[in-house]
Amino acid sequence: MKNGKMLSLSIKEISLALREGRISPMELCLKCLNRIKKTQSLNAYITVTEELALKQAQEAEDRLLKGAPKGPLDGIPFAVKDNFCTEKIKTTCASIMLKDYIPPYNATVVQKLFNQGAVLMGKTNMDEFAMGAGSTDGAFGPVRNPWSYSAPYKDLTGAEPESDWVISGGSSGGSAAAVASLTTFLALGSDTGGSTRNPGALCGVVALKPTYGLVSRHGLIPLVNSMDVPGIMTRSVHDAATVLGVLQGHDVRDSTTVPSPPSLEELPEDLDVRNLRVGIPKEYHALGLSAKTLDQWVRVADMFERAGARVEQVSLPHTQHSIVCYHVLCHAEVASNMARFDGLEYGHRSSVNSSTEAMYATTRHKGFNSVVRGRILSGNYFLLKQNYEHYFVKAQQVRRLIVEDFKSVFRSGIDVLLTPTTLGDAAHHAEFMQEDNRTRSAQEDIFTQSVNMAGLPAVSVPTALSDRGLPIGLQLIGPALQDRKLLAVAQWIEQRVGFPSISYHSNTDKGREGTGVIGKKTSIP
Ligand code: GLN
Repeated sequence: MKNGKMLSLSIKEISLALREGRISPMELCLKCLNRIKKTQSLNAYITVTEELALKQAQEAEDRLLKGAPKGPLDGIPFAVKDNFCTEKIKTTCASIMLKDYIPPYNATVVQKLFNQGAVLMGKTNMDEFAMGAGSTDGAFGPVRNPWSYSAPYKDLTGAEPESDWVISGGSSGGSAAAVASLTTFLALGSDTGGSTRNPGALCGVVALKPTYGLVSRHGLIPLVNSMDVPGIMTRSVHDAATVLGVLQGHDVRDSTTVPSPPSLEELPEDLDVRNLRVGIPKEYHALGLSAKTLDQWVRVADMFERAGARVEQVSLPHTQHSIVCYHVLCHAEVASNMARFDGLEYGHRSSVNSSTEAMYATTRHKGFNSVVRGRILSGNYFLLKQNYEHYFVKAQQVRRLIVEDFKSVFRSGIDVLLTPTTLGDAAHHAEFMQEDNRTRSAQEDIFTQSVNMAGLPAVSVPTALSDRGLPIGLQLIGPALQDRKLLAVAQWIEQRVGFPSISYHSNTDKGREGTGVIGKKTSIP
């Protein structure tokens, strides 16, 4: 089988090919490693775990030869965002603070994938400590969106080719770019306010944020403990369901995991949507929504209606406060979570030793970027005795109102909410960097953050390309623990929208030749 074809298969297809012996795990692993090298300019990976991958691929090969695969993911390459702990493998959170940190244990989700025989290709790039929405704020440089080098992409600004590439979205941009550029079949992200769905939408991959508590957070370096969830990125909805099936479940090491998760049977081949009630939140018709995204939203809503579903306008009145509320709660939790990075136990330590305070201060000033430092400062301000009631308690009250908004919509019989995932397609890097992180995050996460505050499941599905040839995604939100139903509806959309697979430039025009090694051939190398 041709490399390009092989690497663009879904997990379902490649797993079958592995079992039937049409491809060996070692061959597949080598192709992925090779592709990672060829797409290095995307900066999707912080660490490539080549040696481990080859070892794991060999073990998978031995098992498959004996006809005894461990499960549906045996021999399948995967990538993990660099804020999940991996035993004996650097876990940096894209920060100077943890640039040499090697955890002594695996995050539960990583261990579960290892137990299934999946093969780790590497740790992916991100915004520092998962704070951001562009994957532009990590200590190891920004992630480039693979679609910047795809055939349909048109740079309408006329900017210099060297600067015309677009962001991957964030904060799990490396994971999204890794899946989109065909270096892996699945990647883990984290989602606290949209960090899996946002880059998923901008890079044209399926991105699932499971119900809070369905998947263990043990070993995920926390951003906001009450909102963090491991996210799943794949090239198909079916694949996301397969991975969720492997990852979900109670974990004694995470007391917030649900004791008995719902079973996750096969998704229906073709869902009957005639009894489905699809809600369209009127507040989500937000300022700044691009015409093409609105167009997609209407197109898919119409598809549902034509197929016999009931599409209804609903109201989530308090979600308009979600950005402000999210940031107060997030910064407060950040202020407390980041306190552990003091230069004493692990991580970066400054050589300044005139006093303990001076050591702390210089360690934290050098170790964190300005986004993280800014959140620590504002978080501590919100938590001051005289401010606590006014900011933190108020934000918790607003969070409760947001939770109630969703509850009352689902109580009224709505099965799923259909919304855009982002306002538009991916921004140019240069343009994105003009705004400060706080403003960008406020703009980018407008449709995603309230979902984290309510702990609900949501999935972003790519539906079309914008006029510039960049992906656009729509989001489905469902009631807690109905992740499977949500995925069934997402698959229904996926089967009908005909989202194109990525194809790279055939020409070698100057800028792209210089920047993107992946832009040189018509077919994927
Ligand atoms: N953009 C949001 C933030 O910066 C969400 C990040 C995330 O989901 N990790 O906080």
